[in-house]
Amino acid sequence: AKEAGKNGYQFYNSQMTELAFARIELEKSISDALKLKQFKPYFQVKVDAQDKSVVGFEALIRWIHPTKGIIPPDDFIPFAEEIGIIVDINKFMMQESMIIFKRFKAKGLKCGMLSVNVSSEQLGDYSYVEDVEECLKNTGFDAKDLDIEILEGQNIENKNRVAEILRSLKGLGTTMSIDDFGTGYSSLTYLKKLPIDNLKIDRSFVRDIPKNKDDMSLVQTIIALARSLHLKVIAEGVETKEQAEFLKKSGCNVLQGYYFSRPIPEHECEIYLKAKS
Ligand code: C2E
Ligand code: CA
Ligand code: CA
Ligand code: CA
Repeated sequence: AKEAGKNGYQFYNSQMTELAFARIELEKSISDALKLKQFKPYFQVKVDAQDKSVVGFEALIRWIHPTKGIIPPDDFIPFAEEIGIIVDINKFMMQESMIIFKRFKAKGLKCGMLSVNVSSEQLGDYSYVEDVEECLKNTGFDAKDLDIEILEGQNIENKNRVAEILRSLKGLGTTMSIDDFGTGYSSLTYLKKLPIDNLKIDRSFVRDIPKNKDDMSLVQTIIALARSLHLKVIAEGVETKEQAEFLKKSGCNVLQGYYFSRPIPEHECEIYLKAKS
């Protein structure tokens, strides 16, 4: 039966074939999207908890699809990570965001720090460090204005390697943040060993404030923990004035969320910054 067809299609059931085709199609359309520059960074402001001044922006990817509209990252980033193209996507996003920030700065706009996202799975080797170096060099962006938000994956066995790579990045002059803190795999010893500057409290702990008193004390505990590790604390997903005030009162340094702004494209970001200055 093996000789029946070189491709062996008859051994697959139609569902499997469909699924495989869907994946191949998605893979192709992601790599096309990258070539066609259909990926755009949107920017979400981070503000100082005390005086609400602009601390910086987080770059969040959007796929501006010609027929499907704006596709959110959760619909394609997990797959892009699976097939490895995330490495190219992240590099593209970093470089594009740096170029936009340089443009803002040339216009005299104070955009502060640029935060980019990376999963710890992509920190397994030095090529990420090389990508960062290359983007800095290509754009003339100041490494001190770059913040790298690390989302913890499940590669716990790689922790020593990740620590080494983070030290190399730190050596370039960037700052480092642990993203979605409280949902990942970070142990305290690990945190202590890493050259981390900031902890980002995950949105799930902020969402039900002030209704959920357990979440409120949990957030205060995370802030105390961060303090003892000499880390700054950023809260994400801040949607109400009440949440902003509670977080400020609890000692949180930086706030981010719809209460201040949604992620917005370059053009709107420029208008936002102009209104601030
Ligand atoms: P994240 O890094 O935790 O980003 C925060 C997410 O929360 C963003 O979703 C943001 O739009 C959303 N958000 C911000 N404030 C609020 C709020 O007040 N309320 C609510 N309900 N949501 C809020 P988004 O943009 O859909 O991104 C989802 C995830 O995709 C990100 O989570 C990040 O892990 C990933 N991602 C985005 N851009 C990139 C990228 O360039 N590279 C990589 N590797 N991952 C990315
Ligand atoms: Ca993030
Ligand atoms: Ca986050
Ligand atoms: Ca998240």
